[in-house]
Amino acid sequence: MRVGIGYDSHAFAPKTPKGKKGRKLILGGVEIPHDRGLKGHSDADAVAHAITDALLGAAGLGDIGRMFPNDDPRWKDANSLHLLNLAFLKVVEAGFQFVHADVTIIAERPKLAPHIDAMEAKVAEAVLAGAAHVSIKAKTNEGMGWIGRGEGIAVFAVATLAKHGD
Ligand SMILES: [Zn+2]
Repeated sequence: MRVGIGYDSHAFAPKTPKGKKGRKLILGGVEIPHDRGLKGHSDADAVAHAITDALLGAAGLGDIGRMFPNDDPRWKDANSLHLLNLAFLKVVEAGFQFVHADVTIIAERPKLAPHIDAMEAKVAEAVLAGAAHVSIKAKTNEGMGWIGRGEGIAVFAVATLAKHGD
C-alpha cells in the first residue's frame, strides 16, 4: 500500500462585472455558481490538482508541474479532470491500482456542501473508480488569514494506491 499527499491553492480572480464572461469556479470538475472564479493557467481546479499530486506522490512519479508544465500552451485553460485522468493512467502504467482518495477543501465562500456529491462522482469517474472510493469534505478557515478574507482557497488530498506484491 502506498500513500501520497497533495496540496494546492489558488487565488480568486477579480469579480466578474455584470453581463461579462469571467472565470468560472470549477472544483472537482463541477462548475459552482459564484461571483468569481480562481486564477490559473488551467481551469484552476484546485481539487483535481491536489488529487493529481497525491496520486503521483503515492506512485513516486513526481508532481503535476513536472507532468503538465504551466508554461505549456497545451494546458492553457485545460480541463483539470482530464489532466487527473492522464496522471491516473501513468500511475496505472506504473503498476498501481487506485484504492481511495480523501480530500479537504478549505474555502470561506461559497458554500460547497451542495456540490460535494457531484464532485465525488466526477473525480471518481476520472480515476475509473466508484464514488465510494473518493471522499471530499469542505470547511471554512473560521475567518482567519488569506482564506478567511476570501482571497483564495486551499485543498489537501491524500491518495492510497495498491501495488501487486506490496
Ligand atoms: Zn492548481
